[in-house]
Amino acid sequence: MNCKEFEKNIPIFIGSNMEYEDLKSFVEHVNTCEECREELDIQLLVSEGIARLEDGGTLDLRHEMDKRMEYALHDIRRHKTLRVLVGTLQTMAAIAFLLIIVLLLI
Ligand SMILES: [Zn+2]
Repeated sequence: MNCKEFEKNIPIFIGSNMEYEDLKSFVEHVNTCEECREELDIQLLVSEGIARLEDGGTLDLRHEMDKRMEYALHDIRRHKTLRVLVGTLQTMAAIAFLLIIVLLLI
């Protein structure tokens, strides 16, 4: 998966509608491409975090990432990329959490 394909797949990942083979390529790419990782963080913040702030709801991006990780883990439980995905999502959750703190402080 190249950067262009990755970007096209971000909304599918956020919607948790990704097929295993795509998910595998997606996770492999995000592990090797800092730019795409940042893009994924930003799009997740836009789709979940900002919408909730505008609704006056509580923002718990870490929970959102945990939820996505749970779905993803369910999808690929029997596959050997499991460990890679957990590491990636935990890192993304941490980065996203820090990003939203920064956004709230601005
Ligand atoms: Zn990329």
